[in-house]
Amino acid sequence: MPDAVLERAGAQLFARDASGASALERPFTGAAFRDVLAQAEQRLRQLLALPEHYRILFLAGGAMHQFSIVPLNLLGRASTVAYADSGYWAKRAIGEARRYAEVAIVARHAGAVPLAAPACGSWQLPADCAYCHITPNETVEGVAYPELPDCGDVPLVADCTSSFLAAPLDISRFGLIYASAQKNIGPAGLTVVIVREDLLERAAPLVPAPFNYRLQAEQQSCVNTPPTLAIHLAALVFDWLAESGGLPAMAAANRRKAARLYAAIDGSGGFYQAPVEAGHRSTTNVRFHLADDALTESFIGAAERQGLTNLRGHRHLGGIRASLYNAMPDAGVDALTGFMADFARYER
Ligand code: PMP
Repeated sequence: MPDAVLERAGAQLFARDASGASALERPFTGAAFRDVLAQAEQRLRQLLALPEHYRILFLAGGAMHQFSIVPLNLLGRASTVAYADSGYWAKRAIGEARRYAEVAIVARHAGAVPLAAPACGSWQLPADCAYCHITPNETVEGVAYPELPDCGDVPLVADCTSSFLAAPLDISRFGLIYASAQKNIGPAGLTVVIVREDLLERAAPLVPAPFNYRLQAEQQSCVNTPPTLAIHLAALVFDWLAESGGLPAMAAANRRKAARLYAAIDGSGGFYQAPVEAGHRSTTNVRFHLADDALTESFIGAAERQGLTNLRGHRHLGGIRASLYNAMPDAGVDALTGFMADFARYER
């Protein structure tokens, strides 16, 4: 999270006010928390230029909860849903959706290096499918779709967990998006769902009340106690985003940071190698390998000793992954590229 937000949070959340209460202890039913919630929603609406007919829900849990909650709410009378298999997180979403519906895989990534997102051209959506689900940024593989598919009248649903708020997003292209908070929104425990109003009527009768989008929309995300601390911190992050130039400024900064890191990889004479095709490379999760894999552990260890942490690739893929979320400053990327150059020079 941005330093400015942590400082403000320290001052606002953990100190007792004149009444002896801290913001942390506020009941979710009280006016003080309701103001925070309203402010978070209003700020997020502004950042996204969200059309009126979309609702924002601040729900407890993570993106994996939504892997089940989406089909439970959107299947309606249909029995089929369409999913694009773009990698690790898409597969996890597909696995959960199969428990509720017939899943048609309408596009698949090639799986071989250089990795790429599924091509968006010619998806054959089943006539009666309830929605089509994509994962715009695959956090594990470091692969991002360069464009969105055209699904016609079928609502496009997206797991935006690792790309949300990293760049402007035209929500009118989607029926629903969701993102868990712990990347660009705030601390873990909160998931933001943005849903087009007409989709609120499809929930199956057995959907538990806290998971029912329509009920949560009607009751301002307060069917039960929402994650109040995470929502308060998200509101501070939204303020910071607005003060920092909004999503266009984030997109420019993220493109700049990623370009520098990919340039360091591509310019290393093969010492470092990025497995993702140009044009499909994530600006958020930058993946690379050392040509000599035996050096990976010593790279990670030496980096950690210099304060460059959390660089280990996902356990399924190995290698290195540098995540450049909004709060990562340019200086962080400079430190990493400087270290990479030193390491390559020493080991060559
Ligand atoms: N989808 C994507 C794209 C993710 O990156 C993650 C977490 N890294 C998840 C889903 C799972 O999110 P959570 O742990 O919040 O359930």
